[in-house]
Amino acid sequence: MTDAQSLTSVCNICGGSDWKDINMRAAVFCGTCGSYERTRAMKLVLDSLDRPQPGDRILHFAPEKGLSDWFSKTCGVGYEPADIDPSIYPHARVRQFDLVTDTASLPSNSYDLVVHNHVLEHIPCSLAHVLFHLHRALTPRGKHVFSVPIMSGCYEEDFGELTHENATKRFGQFDHVRRFGRDDMDRHLGQLLDVDLNYNLYAYRSRSELEACNIPEIYRTGLHSCTIFVAGKYDYKLANLA
Ligand SMILES: [Zn+2]
Repeated sequence: MTDAQSLTSVCNICGGSDWKDINMRAAVFCGTCGSYERTRAMKLVLDSLDRPQPGDRILHFAPEKGLSDWFSKTCGVGYEPADIDPSIYPHARVRQFDLVTDTASLPSNSYDLVVHNHVLEHIPCSLAHVLFHLHRALTPRGKHVFSVPIMSGCYEEDFGELTHENATKRFGQFDHVRRFGRDDMDRHLGQLLDVDLNYNLYAYRSRSELEACNIPEIYRTGLHSCTIFVAGKYDYKLANLA
């Protein structure tokens, strides 16, 4: 993506073209709906999966406005935005939900989509626990679609008392409790979920389509902060105890 291309591209979530700089990245933040590169990539992936469908039930954590408006319009009462701090999301009627303590109470076989971007790095408990219950809550045809920030090096987590400075240094942000390391993905996330660790957005859309919605080339393949993972209900690896 060049600056010239960003001038002609359109947000595939809201149709806006008011691109803003964010976090040292030039002209990639949608000033209209607030989408990031990863938000637009997720929309492309969901479109390719033909999800959501009217009548679907969606559980959406950290419900960013662009996707939230789309899900709400498509699914109405079936759309359930949730977050530990609903006040951050005034655009939606967000349910207060703590992924540490509340996932075990989710109903089984109930959600056609579970969606979240950059949430799991904030959750101070076992990922195996959280992912088990999210997949238990999926319907048999359900999909779990998400992204996490993926950093260089290896996995690390710390649920103890962390200073903001220490958390930022180790995990990339003051309120993160873990880092997903690119070098050992097969030994953390890859051990829990059967997801494609060879991400390729071109499997979903052409180069021209990705440029048209302002997805920078560096975020189209590989493991990074915009990699969109897709897992079916039975792609959770630790559930079969037979
Ligand atoms: Zn937008």
